[in-house]
Amino acid sequence: MLPSSGMQQLRVVAAFGCRRTRPRLLPPAGIVLTQRRPLHLAPPFLVDDYIPRYRLLSDVDVAKKRSLAYSHLRNCNLCPRLCGINRYETTGMCLIGENVKVNVIAPHFGEEPCIQGHNGSGSVFFSGCNLRCSFCQNYDIAHQRNGFDLTPEELGEWYVKLQDVGQVHNVNLVTPEHVVPQVALSILHARTLGLKVPIVYNTSAFDSLASLELLDGLVDIYMPDFKVWSRKASRRLLKADDYAAAATESIRAMHAQVGDLCFTGDGIAKKGLLVRHLVMPGQEDEAKEIVKFIAESVSRDTFLNIMEQYRPNAHVGKPRRRAKTKGGDTEGEEDGEAEGRGGGCALC
Ligand code: SF4
Repeated sequence: MLPSSGMQQLRVVAAFGCRRTRPRLLPPAGIVLTQRRPLHLAPPFLVDDYIPRYRLLSDVDVAKKRSLAYSHLRNCNLCPRLCGINRYETTGMCLIGENVKVNVIAPHFGEEPCIQGHNGSGSVFFSGCNLRCSFCQNYDIAHQRNGFDLTPEELGEWYVKLQDVGQVHNVNLVTPEHVVPQVALSILHARTLGLKVPIVYNTSAFDSLASLELLDGLVDIYMPDFKVWSRKASRRLLKADDYAAAATESIRAMHAQVGDLCFTGDGIAKKGLLVRHLVMPGQEDEAKEIVKFIAESVSRDTFLNIMEQYRPNAHVGKPRRRAKTKGGDTEGEEDGEAEGRGGGCALC
């Protein structure tokens, strides 16, 4: 659909065109044309060539990023949970310490065509998560934290294997919000080993401005979910008080860093923002608000994937669990994960 100002212009041209005189180049008095971009030009979505942002950092920038990553690990407030803990000594809400836990590292063919291409997207599925979605589609990875431990340096070596052996189009970091310092260190290490494919940050959007500042210059494609809009849905389905407040702030900051999605001539995305929304049963009104926000507050040229592959998973439809107290009594929901059940929720 055209922007309203563009429609205004079309109406003006049509009105002049019906006269058999040369159309005026200026609109009549009282009509102001404020279109965002010329309608006859395609937006600059095509790039001839692309060099990943992390390859353009100066040595000083690299040193600053490393230092910032280590300081965040010693006092972690990197996501809206704001645990404030030293991850060399203990763990916070995400239950992940100084190293990352990874479930799968492999070329992946389940992404958007512009991300997976012909050779696949070099996906790294991180275990653990800072959300607790009751409908989680990767429950065994995100909630149960199945996987193996890697240092940031070992992780960076895997990126290079994906590139050199797998010939993947990019390195795709799946659910990385809770391991941003380790991810930053791994990208910087892989840079020294010769990594040259774009980095995709595939996130729930439950990020903070501090973690996005650390990632600025390291990430090429931000691929955030926008899960739910209302506080009610956030509390019931995600175990977060106000997910949308964090997501709106984060997605605006992501777009400010990398802009709209750009492609090379082979159709592979290289840089920019790609937003996903998983439509859930009975929650269609949430989707309307999310799309409205993206159009009005991010960019009308945002690449948006409306996903339909919801399936009942994780805690959906399962009986409530009770946590045992020290005295052996049961009390409340275990880990609070079942807040989404009951009360007429269409998912539960
Ligand atoms: S990343 Fe983990 S430890 Fe850090 S604030 Fe978030 S939940 Fe807490």
